[in-house]
Order: sequence, then C-alpha cells, then structure tokens
Amino acid sequence: MKLYRLTTSEQGLTKLFVGGLHGNESLYTAPILEILATEEEIPAGEAVIVPCITEASKYIDVLSAEYYQSKEGTELLRLIRDYNPDFYFELHAYGKQSYSRLTDPEREDKIGVPPFVDLGDGILLGSIAPILRRKFSEHDFCVTIEVPKWKCELTEIREELLLLLRLGLTIAHKREVLKELRLLYPMQMKKAEMLFQQYYRNRLRPF
Ligand SMILES: [Zn+2]
Repeated sequence: MKLYRLTTSEQGLTKLFVGGLHGNESLYTAPILEILATEEEIPAGEAVIVPCITEASKYIDVLSAEYYQSKEGTELLRLIRDYNPDFYFELHAYGKQSYSRLTDPEREDKIGVPPFVDLGDGILLGSIAPILRRKFSEHDFCVTIEVPKWKCELTEIREELLLLLRLGLTIAHKREVLKELRLLYPMQMKKAEMLFQQYYRNRLRPF
C-alpha cells in the first residue's frame, strides 16, 4: 500500500485522503490522489494520502460491518487509528448504472443511509458510512466523494475533483471548508447538509 505523508513544521490538523476501498475502483481514484500527493504543499499540519487501499478485491459495501473485517477494511481502520485524522476524505468510483441508486431520494428508507448529492456533473458528495463515522469525533470533518467512472479521464472532471480535494488539503478549519463548499455549490451543499442533519439529528453537525 503506497502512502504519501506531507508534513510541515507548522502546528495544524491531520488530514487523511483514501481511495480505492474495494473492487477495482482504485483504477479511477488512484490517479487523482497521486496528483494531489505529488503536486501540493500544505500550509500546516499533516496530510496522509493513500491512493489505493486495494487494487483488486471482492466488492464489499463499506456500509456493511463485513467490510471492516476484510483485509481492506482492517487496513482502513488501522490508518484511522494510527493517524487519528481531523479531516477525512474517502474517494470512491461508481458506474453509470449505480447513479440512480446512489442519489435515490428514498435511499434512507430503503437502506438506512441518506442519498448522495450530485455536485453538478456526476461528482457525488455525501456522508461516510455511519459505522465508520463513529470512529471519529463530532468535531472531525468526514466526507465521501463518488467519482463517475465514465468521466474521470475528462480534464474538467479531474480538475474539479482536485479543486475539491485541495480545499480539504489547504484549509485549516472545518467551518472554513464548509464555507468554501457552500460558495462553490450553494444549492447542492444546502441539500447535502440538510440530508446530514435529518440523518444525525442533533448528534452531529455536518459533516
Ligand atoms: Zn466504492
């Protein structure tokens, strides 16, 4: 497992970026995280970037408890335990046929978790698996980004993903990340935050 660690002498948050959690999705997510890892300097704190947790494995849904008992899942839990990140970005890739299931307004009724929100061109944003969210504190910032497989070689999609990830990489506070995201995607973030609040009620604030 390749791991990039960007450190500075400035005190700051620890941020973890992971991709390729199951199946062969790392084919699509690893190139983006590789760019993030090699191009950027961070202003403070530490960033850990793992472009690919698994290259080819059985697909086990990260919403299921079974995932966290698999080789990939235990690797992921170990990363979170070892680095104890304040910011956590989980990058997945989905096929066209999964779009309606991932963004289904009734997803919470059907499978118990809120739908993803389309940021506008097939890049989806949403909360992380509830089982995993419990490993973080209420002050941490945790999001899942789903990349459309069939578009991820397009320059504009790649640039947009990098813009999103660089926000996470360079911004120092949870509130500021949210502020920037709201400026970039006002309607979408309103919806994503509302879905989060409906799900977690008063227990957690987005994300
Ligand atoms: Zn995935």
